[in-house]
Amino acid sequence: DAYSTGRPTWVEISLPALRHNLHRAKQAAPHAAAWPVIKADAYGLGAVPCAHALADLADGFCVALVEEAEILRQAGISHPILILSGYFPGLERQIVELNLQVCIENRQQVDAIGHTAAALGKSVALHIEVNTGMARLGAEPSATPELIAHIDAAPGVELGGVLTHFACADEPERAANAKQVEQLERLLAHPALQTRADLTVSACNSAALLSLPQAQRQWIRPGIMLYGASPFHPQRTAAADGLQPVARWITHILQIHDLPAGTPLHYGHTYTTPHDARIAILPVGYADGYSRRLSNRGEMLIHGQRAPLRGRVCMDLIAVEVTKIPQAQTGDQVILMGDDGAGAAVTLEQMATWMETIPYETLTRLSPRLPRRYL
Ligand code: PLP
Repeated sequence: DAYSTGRPTWVEISLPALRHNLHRAKQAAPHAAAWPVIKADAYGLGAVPCAHALADLADGFCVALVEEAEILRQAGISHPILILSGYFPGLERQIVELNLQVCIENRQQVDAIGHTAAALGKSVALHIEVNTGMARLGAEPSATPELIAHIDAAPGVELGGVLTHFACADEPERAANAKQVEQLERLLAHPALQTRADLTVSACNSAALLSLPQAQRQWIRPGIMLYGASPFHPQRTAAADGLQPVARWITHILQIHDLPAGTPLHYGHTYTTPHDARIAILPVGYADGYSRRLSNRGEMLIHGQRAPLRGRVCMDLIAVEVTKIPQAQTGDQVILMGDDGAGAAVTLEQMATWMETIPYETLTRLSPRLPRRYL
């Protein structure tokens, strides 16, 4: 079990904070059904424990891949599960047997899934993904009424709903958002959709949920906000949207070396001590997801003080200067990401900025090698 080794480095995941953040999402859309997005192993934090923790608050779950849904089914998750982006020809039997719902965009997909499901005496709920301006996956709005009629007529399938995804919801002021809403509204006004009282529509990811109330429909697909990051990074913090941090990344000091001024450090000698320095070595590296971009840039918390990373991030080791933290000793706790409960923090957003990326990537890079501990 990769999640229960005895390493002195781990990621701590607060399931109460995760639940708080889903409550926050539901508060933003009180009448909508909530389908948390737990793809990519719940953005790196563990899909199975996160799904169990959210089960009583969730109407369904979204994942990207059939493989991800299979793991949830094996763990006893019986909620509806929607495959957002991983339908390939050949997966039909698995989809039927695992009782999954799927996003589709053309007749061939409807026919392939319907054929398999009908032969097994089952029916699969299909969600038509509509491209209202993202131009990634999805049918064109003009093709949607015909696709609905096709699903209605085909054996082995039923219409689960209509879904669209925003391209710029993390920048609420962009005109592209209003255009996508308008496209969606125009489509929903079409008689083929208008006459279906049972139609369920979904448009909101985290950013849209928090910034585009006019986009809210029958159900929501919050992802990143559940894991305690602002979808509006770096313009806004998670705390400003009432979100709680979920992940803390902890390690412990492996060795401390007193090095004279003028000592070049590690691979490439990219840092040379300008004065006599106390350097602590920590058992974590880029193979754990501590990005090499943090070389000579990252900071962490030791005894409540910020300490700077020195030299390059190695595969399994990093170095941090503790010259100004004389009480630091071998075995002491280091907070790589998260807060120390006494007011100091290295936020996920801060780490993402140092990595020149977004919190989504910082989280999903946390390697399977890192033990996860659930609170
Ligand atoms: N819906 C779809 C189709 C997605 O691809 C994603 C993730 O990117 C989400 C919802 C969740 O988005 P977020 O994590 O920004 O809330």
